[in-house]
Amino acid sequence: MMHLYNSLSKQKEEFIPLDPNHIKFYSCGPTVYNKIHIGNARAFIAADLLSKVLKGLYPKVTYVSNITDIDDKIIEASKRENLSIKDLTKKYFDIYMEDIGLIGINPPDIQPFATNFIKEMIAYIEKLIRLEKAYEVNGNVLFRVSVFKNYGCLSGRIIEEQKHGKRVEVESYKENENDFILWKPSNEKEPGWNSPWGFGRPGWHLECSVMSEITLDIPFDIHGGGNDLKFPHHENEIAQTCACNGLDNATDFAKYWFHNGFLNLEDEKMSKSLGNVIYIKDLLNEYQGNHVRLALLSTQYRQPIPWSKKLLDQAKSISKKINSFLEKYEYVESKFVKNTKIADALLDDLNTPKAIRIMQDLVQSATFDPNEVATYKYIFEGSNQDVSIDDITVQEIEKLIAERNAARNAGDYALADKIRAKLSKMNVSIKDVGGKTEWKI
Ligand SMILES: [Zn+2]
Repeated sequence: MMHLYNSLSKQKEEFIPLDPNHIKFYSCGPTVYNKIHIGNARAFIAADLLSKVLKGLYPKVTYVSNITDIDDKIIEASKRENLSIKDLTKKYFDIYMEDIGLIGINPPDIQPFATNFIKEMIAYIEKLIRLEKAYEVNGNVLFRVSVFKNYGCLSGRIIEEQKHGKRVEVESYKENENDFILWKPSNEKEPGWNSPWGFGRPGWHLECSVMSEITLDIPFDIHGGGNDLKFPHHENEIAQTCACNGLDNATDFAKYWFHNGFLNLEDEKMSKSLGNVIYIKDLLNEYQGNHVRLALLSTQYRQPIPWSKKLLDQAKSISKKINSFLEKYEYVESKFVKNTKIADALLDDLNTPKAIRIMQDLVQSATFDPNEVATYKYIFEGSNQDVSIDDITVQEIEKLIAERNAARNAGDYALADKIRAKLSKMNVSIKDVGGKTEWKI
């Protein structure tokens, strides 16, 4: 039996599926306007971890994670990079997929793009207006929060004008400060679609309500995302979905609410050399994807991760020790085996640090247990180990490095980065030292 912390009830609960023959899980995905940083990666690795454990336990699991490809940040980035919205979102979607692959995250089973659901979002808004749960003002459509009495049930938060002892200035078109945008007008330079309220685009919160309901049907088992999404994003999703379907409780939408903790950059040295935002590829000069994966999983998903060079170095050294032990057992297939100590640790609210410690103890005492090894591999080795070291010849690596250097000399840094990512996928890390490129496996 799995136990999972439910952010809605604020306690660890036994996970009882709505239908044990088909588990349904939705987690908020990226807005594709920039490379994902290590803090974003934490949310994706937590969702991936949960989906892997569920897939180890149940015969059928559908894990959905959306792609936000229309948003104000995307519009700004497309101006900045002088790319069309379509080209910009395609570019960053591809980078996202490559980056998550480098740290062993499997793609979700269904990855709906917001712009493919505009028609459905318009129909959803029309229904909310018909039910008098939304209203239009000058091309804006707003959700009327006062109609949903459980607003604030997840986060405990609600914006109240009087709350902080001062009046919050309410945008003139809002009936109430808590009301949020379902549809907003676009000018002729901005992307938009024709709607009953004029040319415009949907609000961000709406897409998750619409796409989760279409892809999974409601209620579904688990809704996830980063802690920062509890308010207002998930609170607004709950209000929309419940209001549109005549439901009272968040559990009528999703039974369990799963949120991961933050990642704190605690290392001044690291933020000095890499900047305050650390991208996955920045780490791959010094570390392999599976070191970064282990570092991310070395803290239980709900706790804040104190991210530092020390943490990465520790993960690298642990990973090396475990991997050299596992080399002897390459024939053991990666598989989630129930009733192992590692599986039990994971079933207890995904206690990855405990699972790692169990594996370290086995290594320490040189104890080979095929079931523990299979389960460890299944969770911690990730999925993209498609090129094994045995298949790589030195010539191939050196050819790729030469190609990368040629690309760098020609100023084609995008290609150079791509080649570096390819090498990293082959478990080869490279370092540029004094005009030369050193590499190691
Ligand atoms: Zn969402």
